[in-house]
Amino acid sequence: MSLFKKLSRTNKVRWLFFGIATVAVLALTGMNIYSLYALRDSTVESAKESKKSQLEEFVSEVQYPLYRPFWGVNKLNTRQLEDSWESQGQFPEKFIEVVDEALSTSLFTDVYFSPGEVSGCNDPSLEVYSYEKTGKNFNPSVETPGIVCDGFGISQSRIRTNLDDWRWNSKVTFDSHRTMTLALIDLNDRRILGHLGFTINQEYLLNEYLPEKMKKQFGSADDSGIVVWLRDWVQDEILAGSDDNYTYDRDTYPIDLRQSFSSSFDDWTIHASFIDSPTVAASNISLQRNLIVLGFAVFVLFGALMFIFINAKRERELAERQAGFLANITHELKTPLAVMQAAGENIADGRVTDGERLKSYGDHIFTESVRLKKMIEKLLDAAKVDSQQTMAEQAPHQISNLVREFHEANQRYIEQKGFKFTFESDDQLPLVMIDPDHLDTILNNLVENAIKYSSDSKEIKLSVTSDKQKVTLQCTDSGLGIPKKSLGLIFDKFYRVENTMTAKTKGHGLGLSIVKKMVQLNNGQISVKSRPGKGSTFTITFPAFLQKGDEQTTHKTSTTNGVDVQNRKAIDDYVE
Ligand code: ADP
Repeated sequence: MSLFKKLSRTNKVRWLFFGIATVAVLALTGMNIYSLYALRDSTVESAKESKKSQLEEFVSEVQYPLYRPFWGVNKLNTRQLEDSWESQGQFPEKFIEVVDEALSTSLFTDVYFSPGEVSGCNDPSLEVYSYEKTGKNFNPSVETPGIVCDGFGISQSRIRTNLDDWRWNSKVTFDSHRTMTLALIDLNDRRILGHLGFTINQEYLLNEYLPEKMKKQFGSADDSGIVVWLRDWVQDEILAGSDDNYTYDRDTYPIDLRQSFSSSFDDWTIHASFIDSPTVAASNISLQRNLIVLGFAVFVLFGALMFIFINAKRERELAERQAGFLANITHELKTPLAVMQAAGENIADGRVTDGERLKSYGDHIFTESVRLKKMIEKLLDAAKVDSQQTMAEQAPHQISNLVREFHEANQRYIEQKGFKFTFESDDQLPLVMIDPDHLDTILNNLVENAIKYSSDSKEIKLSVTSDKQKVTLQCTDSGLGIPKKSLGLIFDKFYRVENTMTAKTKGHGLGLSIVKKMVQLNNGQISVKSRPGKGSTFTITFPAFLQKGDEQTTHKTSTTNGVDVQNRKAIDDYVE
């Protein structure tokens, strides 16, 4: 299988794995977020549940003393109660005890009794009796309060509708928070024997009993996480609250739960709002913390995944380019050799005697061997740079002199090719620690590219400028330019811009990678700016060489062999 096929197969596998890994990471993240929210919700829900049962508990606790005294009534024979009333005009002691116990709770103030099915309030021929605590007996009531009569009426109509199915010998009916009426029933005859009307102590109920119970049950809202109010929905009025610091306001404290009193206080409802309880607050904080940690972990994981993926992509591109390079270079090494071999053979055979032809054969051998030499040198440079065998033999140099020498040495040759080749330099320049051979290689490559990738406008400019800290070398051409998307890649090994012009020019994508490496070896930095169709500028900066004591060394432009004579002292300091 060819190398290219193998590479494209591994590329597909890599995409597949990248896809699977991404889906796995996303699925795991989704699952985690879901379970984190589910955990928080279940904590909140269980907090809510516990508050709900707290409310139910509160309501039954409030109602308990209202019913408690009448538990024993079930066991009494109501017919006997009737007999006792009819014969003695009083109830038996056992029943009087029930009445006394009810009055002892402070929830009830007075008790009235109306014998028979219809209450004495509705039938003036019938009497209503009121209970006298001290004498423990019932006497005809002088004036029966209206609320007691209302209670009798409500009880009468309620018991009448389901008397046939009723299974107990009494039935309690509330007229909201005003009265409680106990109907006495004879289950054998399905008959109402009479009604006992208890007036509720509203003052005590509202001002003492309920507020105290509320405060006791729910305490401070900040500690319990719940605040409750007693609301009269008929009057639209708030009657009491569990925490005085929290005023009933649905916008600020939305109502989370409502609880009615199951069989008493019909006009009233308990409204409850959840203040962030410590458990819920802790669970929210933990959710937040977990989400942050999860986000960070996913970010790192994705970062790593992307890093591996991009790296693998780069490796693959490099391998592809390398494979292309090998195929290319073999061909290019063979061509000049074949030309030289043929020319040499013809001369050696003695078949070519004509002077002109001899010279042309010689020229061929010379140019091809120069090409071959350049190619081999470049390959060796790349190999050395790769295996990190390239050492920079740096010394303080006046870089403008080195560049000028390069310019002078190559000017004629380049201008013969139709280029305007110029050089400019600032006057006062600091020295730079550089290996002159490296600088030569750098300049050779940059100028060679400027020639190779030139357009109709043939201009190449070398310039050296500086500020206090650094010296800047620029190679500007007015050639083809480099597309924006390739700018970050041209310094990669074997990278060549893919366009028709590049396809026509010889090259293997090694020059700029060598240039970059050599710039770095000399502590410099390289960058490029380019506009397609207008030209490119390669900018290299080297740090200025500073003398002991950080004093800057400057130079007047006259030099010998690139080494500054006037600043010999600076160099001596350096060598020392
Ligand atoms: P080579 O020139 O052998 O292809 P290089 O590493 O020197 O390799 O350059 C890499 C690529 O960068 C070239 O193939 C070319 O597309 C682009 N390039 C380099 N220098 C220039 C330039 N001065 N103008 C336009 N394109 C350039």
